[in-house]
Amino acid sequence: MKSSPVHPFDLLAVDGLLTEEEREIRRTVRTMGERELRPYVAEWFESGEIPARELARKLGELGVLGMHLEGYGCAGTSAVSYGLACLELEAVDSGLRSLVSVQGSLAMYAMWQHGSEEQKREWLPGMAAGEKIGCFGLTEPDAGSDPGAMRTAAKRDGSDWVLNGTKMWITNGSVADVAVVWARTDDGVRGFVVPTDSPGFSAPEIKRKLSLRASVTSELVLEDVRLPAGAMLPGARGLSGPLGCLNEARFGIVFGSLGAARDCLETAISYARDRTVFGRSLASYQLTQQKLADMALELGKGMLLALHLGRLKDAGELSAEQVSVGKLNNVREAIEIARQCRTVLGANGVTLEYPVMRHANNLESVLTYEGTSEVHTLVVGKALTGEAAFR
Ligand code: FAD
Repeated sequence: MKSSPVHPFDLLAVDGLLTEEEREIRRTVRTMGERELRPYVAEWFESGEIPARELARKLGELGVLGMHLEGYGCAGTSAVSYGLACLELEAVDSGLRSLVSVQGSLAMYAMWQHGSEEQKREWLPGMAAGEKIGCFGLTEPDAGSDPGAMRTAAKRDGSDWVLNGTKMWITNGSVADVAVVWARTDDGVRGFVVPTDSPGFSAPEIKRKLSLRASVTSELVLEDVRLPAGAMLPGARGLSGPLGCLNEARFGIVFGSLGAARDCLETAISYARDRTVFGRSLASYQLTQQKLADMALELGKGMLLALHLGRLKDAGELSAEQVSVGKLNNVREAIEIARQCRTVLGANGVTLEYPVMRHANNLESVLTYEGTSEVHTLVVGKALTGEAAFR
């Protein structure tokens, strides 16, 4: 006997755990994403080109750039609302959520949390409006999971700083107006606000990616880039500076990755209901239902986890280990869901006509950036045992 299908998130009545304001923000971001981003995203992915400036302005108008920060033109919403916005953007494409995460949680947050009043006034309002784009340069060709191995150096010359080095895999790099660059100094690792029109700065784009193709990824090359004393972020000393920023961005991924997974599952359910195999709907077979049920369980559990972590963050009680639990679990499950949904779609699953393999490919990057799944496993392992197994 047939009955009306339930949406995967409705299975656990997750919506009832959201406030009216959170639901409204989610609705607004979803509507914009469906109308103004989804129709173009497969084309952007295929060509590997995005209209980054136009997108940044649209996202700025929507109010999602630095939306969880207070003041300087930022909306000051709750962490849960920010997470839900990430989820809705990533339901369209992880590349679009990456643009928002790097702008708001990495570049803007670094200045908002650690910057001088002049740095905040100069950059944050334009970045919140999407008129200025920011990037965050921590990773280097030989220093990814272990940023302590970085070679980029900033040396004093009178009151100026002179930066030399190369950063790698930097989201938004080639389209950025400003780069937050982390460099070794005599006083440990420090952050610098580098206008990208500074002489000696260049940002060649990294091409031929098979993942996050609707996102700009670049190398940052710094050759004797001279900056005034005021370019240093005064509040960040040592690696805790960049690592604290990464925690902010990872939080967005805890929610965001579920957006990609939800989009895959919705696509797979609808495909299975429409597709006839051996004379019956694909959805009517027990093997298909087992796949769909298992995926809905993981999606629902991931959402409950994200909401729990979001409430902890809003209460000011979220720890770095808890963010690692969320990122590790939700990205790992999202990529499994995307791969499993791909099987439901058969051959159609390997094309860009459906979003599933695009999401699966994107999630490969999400699994790696902001701390790989192995690194987050080690963070949780250390929390459980008290033993650091990183080196
Ligand atoms: P490695 O650190 O070389 O790791 C290789 C493998 O070794 C991984 O599986 C890793 O988990 C494993 N490994 C590492 N250490 C251990 C250990 N102790 N024990 C066991 N296994 C270990 N960086 C930025 O700074 N800014 C950005 O905007 C940015 N955007 C990115 C966008 C994309 C599309 C991608 C793909 C990456 C981006 N990154 C960015 C870089 C990203 O953060 C790094 O790729 C990531 O930290 C991993 O570093 P790595 O690639 O050098 O890998």
